Amino acid sequence: MSDIIEKIPAFLRELLQKEYGGEAERIFAGYQMRRPVTLRVNTLKADGEEIASALCGMGIMFERWKEDAFILREAQKETLEGSELYLSGKIYLQSLSSMLPPLALRPRAGEQILDMTAAPGGKTTQMFALSGGKALITACEKDGIRFERMKFNLARQGAERVSALHADAEKLDPFLRFDKILLDAPCSGSGTFLADGRGKIGEALLRNCIRTQRRLLKKGISLLKKGGELVYSTCSVLKEENEEAISSVLGSGVRLLPLPEELMRGLPLLKGMENTLTVCPDGLFEGFFVAKLKKE
Ligand code: SAM
Repeated sequence: MSDIIEKIPAFLRELLQKEYGGEAERIFAGYQMRRPVTLRVNTLKADGEEIASALCGMGIMFERWKEDAFILREAQKETLEGSELYLSGKIYLQSLSSMLPPLALRPRAGEQILDMTAAPGGKTTQMFALSGGKALITACEKDGIRFERMKFNLARQGAERVSALHADAEKLDPFLRFDKILLDAPCSGSGTFLADGRGKIGEALLRNCIRTQRRLLKKGISLLKKGGELVYSTCSVLKEENEEAISSVLGSGVRLLPLPEELMRGLPLLKGMENTLTVCPDGLFEGFFVAKLKKE
């Protein structure tokens, strides 16, 4: 464990130890684990059975996490990326943790939904599929290159009816209103850090992310209809980016909603604020945070 600890930037190590005490060791251990390739079935184009039999045909072993989510312990990402299943948009390579926010939001047919920070579009296409292709989704992205990547992914996944918007979500028209909003906020990535050298986390980046997260969260709440719901998520385990962001808006016309029991089942959770979920990075899951707010 001591060599892993040395590879974690000192500021991050100290912050995690301050925030989690002894539990920080679990996070440090997760930083050293490589995770298998995982995929989501695009239910607009295929079902779990079709994908299971295609994988068998390719000689790829798999386990199922959920009906539409597969774990491929032996497969290489590149093999999948060259497959017909991938190129035709029947599958999307996505980490298991990153499938949680759309499941928490539960998009339904006919709902007006905003994905505030959407590229490359993994969660947008998941939400569209969860609604049976019938939610009215606007996918907003500020970065031009990432926006183009998202448009490509939307087309490949058969989600052309999603409205792609190249814009800064902070500057969206204040008169817009949505039933549901996903804010999968830009973050430090402290949940996906790997001690083998991938992932860069600096203190300045963290501070910058925290400021952006707070502004986006306030803006998101202002764009919700009364009674509307917003899911806030990050791929960070730092409380400053997660629970403290939520605390900063509680009492200003929003309350936390409990997350569904079935969503939490089997996850390697860290202790945290009631009605929020922080996944501890391990050999299967990336570190992730999810909370769901309702506008009163
Ligand atoms: N939800 C995406 C997915 O599942 O594929 C990943 C989103 S990523 C965590 C955050 C995204 O927010 C980045 O693509 C970033 O360029 C974008 N972003 C950052 N600030 C933004 C802003 N003010 N308005 C819109 N997009 C923004």
